Amino acid sequence: MEAATGSRRLLRRLRDVMAGSGTAQERLNEVVRIVAADMVAEVCSCYVMRAGEVLELFATEGLRPEAVHRTRLRVGEGLVGVVAATASPLALADAQSHPDFAYRPETGEEVYHSLMGVPILRGGRVLGVLVVQNRTQRNYTEDEIEALQTIAMVLAELAASGELVSPVELAPSNGIGLLPTRLDGVKLNAGLAIGVAVLHEPRVVIRQVVAEDPQAELVRLRAAIDAMQSAIDDLLAQSDIAAGGEHRDVLETYRMFAADRGWLQRMTDAVRSGLTAEAAVQKVQDETRARMSKVSDPYLRERLADLEDLASRLQQHLAGRHFAVEAALPSEFILIARSMGPAELLDYDRRRLKGLVLEEGSPTAHVAVVARALDIPVIGRAKDVLEKVEAGDLVVVDADEQQVFLRPSEDIQQAVAARLELRLGQRLSYAALRNLPATTRCGTCVALQLNAGLLLDLPHLDDTGAEGVGLFRTELLFMMRHDFPTVSQQASIYRRVLEHAGERPVTFRTLDIGGDKLLPYMAEIEDENPAMGWRAIRIGLDRPALLRQQLRALIRAAAGRRLRVMFPMIAEIGELDAARAMLDLELERAGARGGSLPAKIEVGIMFEVPALFWELPQLLSRIDFLSVGTNDLVQFLFAADRGNPRLAERYDPVSVPVLQLLSEVARACDAAKVPLTLCGEMAGQPLDAMALIGIGFRTLSMAPASIGPVKAMVRSLELAPLEALLAGLATLPPRTLRGKLHDFARDHAVAL
Ligand code: PEP
Ligand code: MG
Repeated sequence: MEAATGSRRLLRRLRDVMAGSGTAQERLNEVVRIVAADMVAEVCSCYVMRAGEVLELFATEGLRPEAVHRTRLRVGEGLVGVVAATASPLALADAQSHPDFAYRPETGEEVYHSLMGVPILRGGRVLGVLVVQNRTQRNYTEDEIEALQTIAMVLAELAASGELVSPVELAPSNGIGLLPTRLDGVKLNAGLAIGVAVLHEPRVVIRQVVAEDPQAELVRLRAAIDAMQSAIDDLLAQSDIAAGGEHRDVLETYRMFAADRGWLQRMTDAVRSGLTAEAAVQKVQDETRARMSKVSDPYLRERLADLEDLASRLQQHLAGRHFAVEAALPSEFILIARSMGPAELLDYDRRRLKGLVLEEGSPTAHVAVVARALDIPVIGRAKDVLEKVEAGDLVVVDADEQQVFLRPSEDIQQAVAARLELRLGQRLSYAALRNLPATTRCGTCVALQLNAGLLLDLPHLDDTGAEGVGLFRTELLFMMRHDFPTVSQQASIYRRVLEHAGERPVTFRTLDIGGDKLLPYMAEIEDENPAMGWRAIRIGLDRPALLRQQLRALIRAAAGRRLRVMFPMIAEIGELDAARAMLDLELERAGARGGSLPAKIEVGIMFEVPALFWELPQLLSRIDFLSVGTNDLVQFLFAADRGNPRLAERYDPVSVPVLQLLSEVARACDAAKVPLTLCGEMAGQPLDAMALIGIGFRTLSMAPASIGPVKAMVRSLELAPLEALLAGLATLPPRTLRGKLHDFARDHAVAL
C-alpha cells in the first residue's frame, strides 16, 4: 500500500512537469532530475531513438553535461543499445564487467558500477531508453524495475509527441517503411489476394498514462471488464455459436480467462500504483508479451496468447469501441497480426476478409486450419511485418510464391490484378459445372467427394456440388479446443455434420492425432519420428477410453442414419479387429441402454502403411470400404518426410512404384467388390487424379477448391487411350510419369 502511494506521488509529480511550461528539452531535464532523486540513484539518463537506429543521450542527471547530444550508440551497441535491441529491461550490479558494456569517455561514467535500463516503448516500438546508475554495486529489485518501466511509459508520450525529434524521424523503420517492401514468409494456405491492411490489434494510443483520479480509473477498469465479459457472453449466445462447434469452444475458454483472478489483480494493482486504466492494461500486456517470448511450451504459449488477445479486447472496450468495428473495415482487406486465435479470425466479416499475414504461425496453427476452411491465402512467419506495415497500406498476399508485398508498385499491382482476373474466370467456369455430373466423355462416372474437418467446411458441400464427405478429419475439432470434448459435445457436432449432409454420405475418420497434429492439452508425445510414432489408431488402441468415447458419440449422432467409420493408419489386420471389437461393444452397450442405433454401419480403413498391402486378401473380407491416404502412404514408400520442404519435389507420386502399387490395390478391391476411395492430396491435383482414374479409381475425395478443376478434367477425358498408356506401367521409365501424362493431356485435349 505504501509502495502504491509513493508511486502515485511520483507519477503525479511527473505529470505536472509534463503538463507544465517550458520546452520539451527542459521538461525532460526536469524528469531525469526527479527520477534520480526518487530512485536514490546518482545518475538518470534518457536516450532517444534518432533516424538510422541511433540512440542519442538527450538528458542526464549525473553524467557530464557536455555528453548530452554528443553520446550516440547504435541499437545493439553498449548496454543501452542492448536494452533497445531486446526491448526488455536490464539490471546489473556490475555493469562494467558485462561483455556488452561500451565505455564512452565523454560521459564520465566509469565511476558508476550498477545500471538499470528499460526501453521506452510505444505501440510495440522502441522510442528510447531510460537508465539509472549507481556508484555502488546495487542489486535493483523487481519492484524498482517495474517502477522505472512505468516512468518510461510516461516518457513515451513525450518521445512520441514529435517535440524532441521531428515527426519525420519517428516514422516506422526510419523512412524505409514507406517504400514498397517485399517480405518472405511461409505458405500456410495457398492463394493470391490484394487488399487494404487492417491491423488485428489496432495500436491503442494511450493519451494519458498518469491517473488524475485513481479511484475513478478503478471504476473505469471494472466497467470495461464487465463490458468485455458480457460481450463474450453475448457472442456465445448467438444462434450459430450457441449450438456448439469449434468457435464456441474457443470462446468458452476466453470466458474462463476473462475471469482469471491473477490477471485482473495485476491490472488493478497497476491502476492503484497511479496509472490510468489504459496504461495499466498496456503494462500487463507488455509483461505478458515479454513472458511469451521466453516460454517454449506450446500449451503455455497459447494460454499467454489468449491473455494477450483479451487485453486487446479490453483496450477496445476502454476506448468505447466494440472489438471488431465492422463498419470501419475496408471492403477488401488483408488482416495483419502477430499471431491470432481461430475465434478471432471468425470475428471479422468473411466477405471482406481476403487474406491473412502473420508474424508468427505454423502450418498446424489453428488459425491456419480455419483460414483453409475459409479459403483465404495465408502467409506465416513474415518477419517484422507489423513494424513495416501501416494500417491502410495496400498489401498483396502471394501465398503461392510465399511472399507479401507492402505498398506494391504499379507494375506489381497490375500483374496481380491480371492473375486474379484469370483465377476469377476459372472459378466462374468451375462454378458453372457445379450441377453437372463428373462423367468422362466416354460415359464413366467418377464420384468427387470432399475432405472436411470443421463445421465451417460444410457449406462447401453445397457450393461445390460434392457428392459427400469422403474424409472427415475428426482431429481438427479436437485441435481447436483447450480440453477433450465430452461425448455429448462430440455427438452434437457429428450430428450437425450429418444433418447438413442429408442424403450425402459422410465418412468419419476416428482421431488421427500424433505426428504433426498435436493436442495442446495432451501430454507432449516425445517421438523421434512422430510420423512413424505413437499416432492415430495406435493411440486409439492404447488409450481405449478416448476411442471408445468417440465411437459412442458417433453412434449417438447417427441414430437412425447411415454411419461410416474409418480407422486411420492401420498397419496390420489385428489393429482393425481390435478397433472393430470396440465399435461392436459400444453398439451393444448403446442397444442395451435402449438408445436408437444407426440404421446402417459401414466400417473402413485408411490404407497408409505399405505393409498392409500383403494382407489385402484377408483384410478386404473384413471391411466395407477402403480409402487410400497417399499423403502418408507415399512418405512411407519413399521414406521421405511429407513435411520436409527439401524433399517436397524429390519424389513424385505420379511415378511407377506408386501407381503400380495403387493399381494392384484397385484390382484387389474390384475383385473383392470393396468400394475404393483415395483421399490424399493427389486426388485434388487434376493430372494426378487423371492418372488415378486411368488405373481404376472411381471415387476421389479432395479439398473444396479442387472439385471444380478435377471435374473439368474428368469431363474432358476419354478413358480408353489413357488406360492403354498406363497398362504398360511396369515397362515405363522408373521416375516421374508427369511429363508423359502432360503430353497425353495435350494430345487428347484433356483440361488440366
Ligand atoms: C493421408 O495420409 O493421405 C490422409 C488423407 O490423411 P492425413 O493427410 O490427414 O494424414
Ligand atoms: Mg494420413
